[in-house]
Amino acid sequence: MGRRIVIAVLTLCITTFNAGSVRGDSDQVPFAAHPAPPGLAPWGDQSGDYFDEIRSPPVGALVWSRWPVRVSIDPTAPLDWQADVRRALDNWQTYVPLTIVPDSEAITPEGLATFETSATQMVDALTVDIAIVRTIIPTQPAANGQLRAASARATFSLFVVRDRDESGDESGEASGVDRERFGHRFAIRVSPTQTGSFVQSAVRHEFGHALGLWGHSPNPQDVMFAAQVAQPGTVSVRDVNTLMRVYEQPTRLGWWVERQATP
Ligand SMILES: [Zn+2]
Repeated sequence: MGRRIVIAVLTLCITTFNAGSVRGDSDQVPFAAHPAPPGLAPWGDQSGDYFDEIRSPPVGALVWSRWPVRVSIDPTAPLDWQADVRRALDNWQTYVPLTIVPDSEAITPEGLATFETSATQMVDALTVDIAIVRTIIPTQPAANGQLRAASARATFSLFVVRDRDESGDESGEASGVDRERFGHRFAIRVSPTQTGSFVQSAVRHEFGHALGLWGHSPNPQDVMFAAQVAQPGTVSVRDVNTLMRVYEQPTRLGWWVERQATP
């Protein structure tokens, strides 16, 4: 079930996910595309895309459907690091609406475990969709069995969002929890070994994963190229074209579960 994209060259990231107990194939949840984010439109030129390299987990495309996407920047990290992260986000903000949550709501390295493992969330408890944290990244075994270190890593978790029905019922009983939808959240870990422009290029790349680009471009001029390059570029036309196609794909994320009537 887990999917890891393994590349032979020096990687900018390793991508993993854990699906927890979410039933990604539930037929009680619509499997349909959401509207594309405001600001994201095809360029209509001949630059093409690398959509064929993008993968989807069983729940469907890893797209967001509630805008703006709420992003947290590690408030415990040095201020210049936080500034580099903001510059990387500015590049994507042209195409997708983002908002940076206040430090008081931001995810710290200590808060990551809870952020990633909560299986069920009340809708009003959700304040962060994508957490960017400066923390040591555990090594993972590579395809050849050797341990490899990553400079940054994007991972996502799936969970069920619950929304409380406050209307109550005729008997006056306390209102219950009666609506659920599939949700996801991303954690982006950036190794403390990364500084300056490396932080920017790493975050720019990992954030592409978090926006739904779950794969890598074969072209070194694209942000989603798998390896670090000497002159990392900014978000390219191909990156945008690919993201646009991802947002045309069906998904179960973000849709409410249709509860069957109970007698
Ligand atoms: Zn990557």
